[in-house]
Amino acid sequence: MGCKQCTLEPVISLVNNKQTLCRRCFIKYFERKVRRTITQFSMIQKRDHIGVALSGGKDSSALLYLLNNVQKKTGLFQLTALFIDEGITKYRDRTLKFAQEICKQQDVKLLIVSFKNEFDATLDNFVKNSKLTPCTVCGVSRRYLLNKFALKNGFTKLATGHNLDDEAQSILMNLFKNNQSVQARLGPITGLKNHPLFVRRIKPFYFLLEKEVATYAYLHKLLDLHECPYHKQGMREEIRTMLNSFESKYPGTKHGLIGGFMELLPLMKKKYAIEGEIGACEQCGEPSSNRLCKCCVLMETIL
Ligand code: SF4
Ligand SMILES: [Zn+2]
Ligand SMILES: [Zn+2]
Repeated sequence: MGCKQCTLEPVISLVNNKQTLCRRCFIKYFERKVRRTITQFSMIQKRDHIGVALSGGKDSSALLYLLNNVQKKTGLFQLTALFIDEGITKYRDRTLKFAQEICKQQDVKLLIVSFKNEFDATLDNFVKNSKLTPCTVCGVSRRYLLNKFALKNGFTKLATGHNLDDEAQSILMNLFKNNQSVQARLGPITGLKNHPLFVRRIKPFYFLLEKEVATYAYLHKLLDLHECPYHKQGMREEIRTMLNSFESKYPGTKHGLIGGFMELLPLMKKKYAIEGEIGACEQCGEPSSNRLCKCCVLMETIL
């Protein structure tokens, strides 16, 4: 079967709307969907300085590529890449190299921040001293550094490569752990407008499946095949497998989950009064809804 729109040879089949698309029509579909998400949630404004949280993986590399093209065409905003080096042996050094190559090709400024410099220990060191899963330690510390350095460098928004699969996994994980107040902080755009301590996060790939982002990355030679050695240790991997199995049995499951979540999100944000909650951590001054931020609490337990 040829491309649904032009009969050329297809590169992907989109289960949800039962389309097979060729390279050109798929790229058009993908970029249109990103544009629509950016517009619908007012993710980017004139004179914004967008920081892209670049990990060297397929999602953030594709995001950098796409946003850089928009930036070149419109000149409306400034773009900088921010790379966090957690210190994961035989993994991060390789993805860093990949990130450096992409930024050079795309002519985008790259800032590199390392756990070693900021915490005086690598993630590998933390993992040895903690009973927490590596992804928990990594997630809290990464988020902390991303916000800190986004603020320090004057970013007005921080763009992440989270796709629909990532968000669907997070929603299920929060549900299973009854983390409703954390759940209320998800969504395509998070944080408060003009908060002095918090840089808003935007997720332009929010409504695109992982498979779609991977195809877009592959078509632009941005598919990085390095895998973090810790990725199989957390609950997320099991949820991912479960969701993929449901999706192949019941196509549309992931979109259904996100659609339902988006209907509930305004109510959850109201219930957990996200707007009034964020103050400053007494120890480090970073944003926190408690006396100490999650990163300071974490460091006390493992350092
Ligand atoms: S898989 Fe886990 S430990 Fe590895 S980079 Fe991702 S969050 Fe960090
Ligand atoms: Zn086509
Ligand atoms: Zn703190």
